[in-house]
Amino acid sequence: MGQSQPSSDLARIEEAIAAILAGADPKEVRAGLDLPPAVFEQYLATQRDIIAARHDSILALLQQRIAAAQRVAVEKYLAGDTIHKPFVEDRLFNRARRQARQVGFPPETAEDVTRLVLAKAREIQERTLNDIAARLSQLHGEILDAESAQPAEADIEIPSRVVRTGDQPLARETALIKEFRLTGLSHEYPDQQRAFLDWFETPPPLAAKGMLAGSRDNDLFLQALLGGDRCVVMASLVPTGPLHLGQGALINLLAHYQRLGAQVVLTFNDMETVTLRGQQRADAAAAMRDILRDCAALGLDVGAADVYAQSQRSAVAQLAYEVGAKLRVNIINSALGLRLSDSVSATFLPLIYVADILYPQRSLGGGRCRTQVVGGLEHDVYVRLARNLAESCGFSRPAGLYVRAAKSLTTYVDPRTNASVDVMHGALPQGAIFYRDDPAIIRRKVMTAVTGGRATVVEHRRLGGNPDPRVCSVSSLMALQAVPAPDEYAAIQQACRAGQLLCRDCKTDTADRLVEQLAAHRDRRAALAPETTQRIDEIVSGSTAPVAG
Ligand code: SF4
Repeated sequence: MGQSQPSSDLARIEEAIAAILAGADPKEVRAGLDLPPAVFEQYLATQRDIIAARHDSILALLQQRIAAAQRVAVEKYLAGDTIHKPFVEDRLFNRARRQARQVGFPPETAEDVTRLVLAKAREIQERTLNDIAARLSQLHGEILDAESAQPAEADIEIPSRVVRTGDQPLARETALIKEFRLTGLSHEYPDQQRAFLDWFETPPPLAAKGMLAGSRDNDLFLQALLGGDRCVVMASLVPTGPLHLGQGALINLLAHYQRLGAQVVLTFNDMETVTLRGQQRADAAAAMRDILRDCAALGLDVGAADVYAQSQRSAVAQLAYEVGAKLRVNIINSALGLRLSDSVSATFLPLIYVADILYPQRSLGGGRCRTQVVGGLEHDVYVRLARNLAESCGFSRPAGLYVRAAKSLTTYVDPRTNASVDVMHGALPQGAIFYRDDPAIIRRKVMTAVTGGRATVVEHRRLGGNPDPRVCSVSSLMALQAVPAPDEYAAIQQACRAGQLLCRDCKTDTADRLVEQLAAHRDRRAALAPETTQRIDEIVSGSTAPVAG
């Protein structure tokens, strides 16, 4: 001890470690390594020194970052620019994931570390700007909002509250509810969920099954609706393919509110798909017709709803210009991230979405009224933008009701961003169940779906499975469609947790139910009344006027 060992001994330890890491039999390697304990101790001491030095350099790096974040904040104040650059953050996420994969590190952990660093940097920047505001206020009595002179209600200027690449709305649902400051409505918020259910004589089954993630001002909306006031619920769909079960959940919710007396507005976002993504108009129209027939078969009264493709309503573009005049570019940039390489049309699109939300208070007659956007958590950023602008444009602030996304049946990593995609999406057909899927396809998709089951049957029986629909895609299918009764769904979850229900049986049962239910759906669709299909054709051709309230 205390004497340094010959470097060849240390080199032999290095070689032995490399051999084990390369797959050699550890027992054999160890047997062939006949070295005194002091050599190992010296080797370990060297490694500890390396780790300690790395820690010091990581801490030094963080300190440099904090100082840089402060300097950036002051520089942005001087330039009158926004401090947050969402696309820069996106790039950081992409790089962190790529580098993590290269060194065999879980990309999710790299994302978490990146998020922490970004959160710290943002906090420092906001604090710096608030210090500047406080100093100015003391010196000159000037009240300065650090980022914006706009009303701060929605914190729209803080992009951490935007669902972005790598955010994985399902995996991060709880964090997003907190960051967005929404009212949580899932089982994680039992009091708020109960208060929501208490509004209804017959609550929406999705709500009772915990499949509503959260809401913004839904109590004001429900108070007006159930009090008999004129109210509007709205949702938007992309006309790129057939309707899947995740989108069907939105339509079921719209139909529920329609039966309670709300007017329904359904928008098709064809401006984005046709103008920016090069979709043919004829294809968008065909997809729209197909989706609307499914909507009618799901029970939505299409004839009583105001349904339109964005490109058909020039009044929406007109309103987008109007609201755009009251919105500063740095707010849109902070909320959504603009790139200098983006087309000008792409930067105009957020205004169209905001105008879509406000438009029913103008188009349907009757003026101001309570409105509610039904969508996924990613829609909240547009709801907040619309709420910030509503009062100054003479509209009521819209409410938001956010449905938990359907879990994708497969795991998928987007090669463009290296981000895991955890939600059902029409662009990934193997991860989604479409209303048009035939029985063989449904069975194949369900039987190969990702679940929250254990690695072995023995383990599953002993420890139970995880039926959280954010983890188990089969549970998600049951909650969205296959098991309509909330009590029955709760009993299935309980049997799964207790290890009494095995994934194989659960999948078979879910597939059987879906095959039967979707066959019935297709029958209803085939039997739609001629006036309904005619109305759908009129909507698709753009020959309908807004439905008056
Ligand atoms: Fe999911 Fe069913 Fe397996 Fe439970 S038993 S993990 S609910 S598939």
